[in-house]
Amino acid sequence: MAPLPRPPPADPNADWPIPQLVLRVDDLAHPGAKLLFDNVKPYDALKDAIVAVYCWLYTPETVPRTVEKVTLVFRAMPGVAHTFGSERFKEIHFSLDHVANSAARAADEVAGVLAHEAVHCFQYTGADGVPCPGGLGEGIADWVRLRAGLAPPHWVEGRGGRWDAGYEATGFFLDWLEERYGHGLVAELNGCLRVRPWSEALFKELTGRRIKKLWRLYREHLGLEVPGGGGEEGE
Ligand SMILES: [Zn+2]
Repeated sequence: MAPLPRPPPADPNADWPIPQLVLRVDDLAHPGAKLLFDNVKPYDALKDAIVAVYCWLYTPETVPRTVEKVTLVFRAMPGVAHTFGSERFKEIHFSLDHVANSAARAADEVAGVLAHEAVHCFQYTGADGVPCPGGLGEGIADWVRLRAGLAPPHWVEGRGGRWDAGYEATGFFLDWLEERYGHGLVAELNGCLRVRPWSEALFKELTGRRIKKLWRLYREHLGLEVPGGGGEEGE
C-alpha cells in the first residue's frame, strides 16, 4: 500500500564525500549480531544511508564535508539507536536487542534506522546557538527514512498532536509540505538552519503560511480533528 519512493532530487551516483566508516560489534554472541552478519553488509548499509541523506538534503555543491569518520557501534542496549559526536567524528550506537527484535525484517530495519541516524550526522539544527525543536530534527530524520522507501510497517500517518511531535508524525507532515509547497522544501529548511537561528518564521518564508495554519491544513487534509478549534490565527 505504501507508495514507491520517488527518485531523490540529487544523483546517488554523484561524487559524494564518504567519510571513513568504522564498524564495531561489542558482543558477537548476541543473537542480534548473528542476524546482522547474516543479513546486512555493514559498509554498504551505512554508505547507502549516508548517500540517501546527501541526496535528499543536499547537492554535491552544498553537502557538508566536515565529517571525517562515522563509527557504527552495535551493542546490547535499551531503545533503538542514537547518534552523537563532534563536527568531525560521529558515532552511531545501534541496539543489538532491537536487531534481534526485528528478526523478520532485519535488513530493512537496519537500513531504515541507519538512514534516520545518518541524518543526525549531517543535518543542521540552527545557527547562533538557537536550535530548532528536537521534534523537527527527528522529523527531518524520519522524513529522509520515509523518502528513501524505508518506512517500517508500523508507521501510521496522522499520529501526533503537534507539528513538532517528532519522528514519523513530523516526518509525514514534512512530506505533505514537500508535496504541497514544492520539492526541495525540506532541504531548503535544513539549509536555512545552517546559517540562521531557529524561528517559526522560516516556515512562513518557505510556504507563505504560518506553522499553525499549515498544521491545521494538514490535519484537515487527513480528515482529522483540527487542534484548538478556534480561528485565531491569520495565515
Ligand atoms: Zn533521531
